[in-house]
Amino acid sequence: MADLAIEGGRPVRKTILPYGRQNVDEEDIRAVVAVLRSDWLTTGPKVQEFEEAFAAAVGARHAVTVSNGTAALHAAMYALGIGPGDEVIVPAMTFAATANCVLYQGGTPVFADVDGEALLVDPAQVERRITPRTKAIISVDYAGQSCDYDQLRMLANRRGIKLVADACHALGGAYKGRLVGSLADMSTFSFHPVKHITTGEGGVITTDDPTLAQRMRIFRNHGITSDHRQREAVGGWFYEMADLGYNYRLTDLQCALGLGQLRKLASFVARRQVIARRYDTAFAELKVAHPLAVRPDAAHAYHLYVLALDLDRLRVKRDAVFAALRAEGIGVNVHYIPVHLHPFYQKRFGTGLGQCPVAEAAYERIISLPIFPAMTEGDVEDVIAAVRKVVGAYTA
Ligand SMILES: *Cc1c(COP(=O)(O)O)cnc(C)c1O
Repeated sequence: MADLAIEGGRPVRKTILPYGRQNVDEEDIRAVVAVLRSDWLTTGPKVQEFEEAFAAAVGARHAVTVSNGTAALHAAMYALGIGPGDEVIVPAMTFAATANCVLYQGGTPVFADVDGEALLVDPAQVERRITPRTKAIISVDYAGQSCDYDQLRMLANRRGIKLVADACHALGGAYKGRLVGSLADMSTFSFHPVKHITTGEGGVITTDDPTLAQRMRIFRNHGITSDHRQREAVGGWFYEMADLGYNYRLTDLQCALGLGQLRKLASFVARRQVIARRYDTAFAELKVAHPLAVRPDAAHAYHLYVLALDLDRLRVKRDAVFAALRAEGIGVNVHYIPVHLHPFYQKRFGTGLGQCPVAEAAYERIISLPIFPAMTEGDVEDVIAAVRKVVGAYTA
């Protein structure tokens, strides 16, 4: 066994391979430059064009762009009228923004545990947390595969609760043949550079409900009922602010980039799936680390490729494996610290260990490997070699 880089041995790679990275080509760059030469840098024709193309791509009637994925979640909570006294159930295993958006509106996030194999929110745990104050459920398509939407839909419908999919991991995926983006009352996406397609920063909400879409269009523009381009079209100046909103607009520059990115979405997702299959094959033989379970009814979009370590068979904890892989030049990551364990939530809500034991135990074991469409075959083989090297050296 070769010496680990962390102990002074030769690293598998000289430069760090990140866990995710954008893929921007010359077509994208030309599209952005063309907008720079045009009349509209923001709130112009590219916004509508991108929204229409995005809605069509995910099989939804409406798409409302906003400045990032967190703003998308905030807009969704606003559109549902979440406010003080309202509870929204969110999975413990997610990025903090999924829960924060409830607080932005003065509501209370209630954490539900996930299943131990795929780390997707467990409908039985959601049901246990429903109270008369529950107004919405936010599901998270963790790593890129869909939650059990048939179950979640049934729970929500029975109680008149709204279902919001935080689909930031799952753009380009599907559940039982239905596209991600059309599975909940609203679905939110992020265009951060590590996500499936990028606009630098950016986000979008999809819905079939024209009333929700209209509320979010007003919300992203200060609560004003018309935008600059609409007023220009009728030659008027008059506008009114109907409610308190924010400036959460996405620019035409970004939407032009988004249009080019969207055309490549299918090939990006296909490439992620090819890399995941190569990893699956390579790691099937490992006794001390296992890929997360893949559900048969989901077309996995692989925002993340997560390995779960078998800590009983390793001499070290996850953090030592993490440090050793980094030393080998592999930009591993951890997704996520369960949200209810963040100091803010512990202090504000008295949450803590024991509340979502499955997510808490999973957190100790998980590690995300690099996966993004621009990875070369050599990059993929480097990751495999480094994982074999490190877990081999640390096997008990
Ligand atoms: C990326 C992400 C967000 C937030 O998106 P931003 O564009 O970074 O604000 C929210 N939820 C999940 C699950 C995410 O992965």
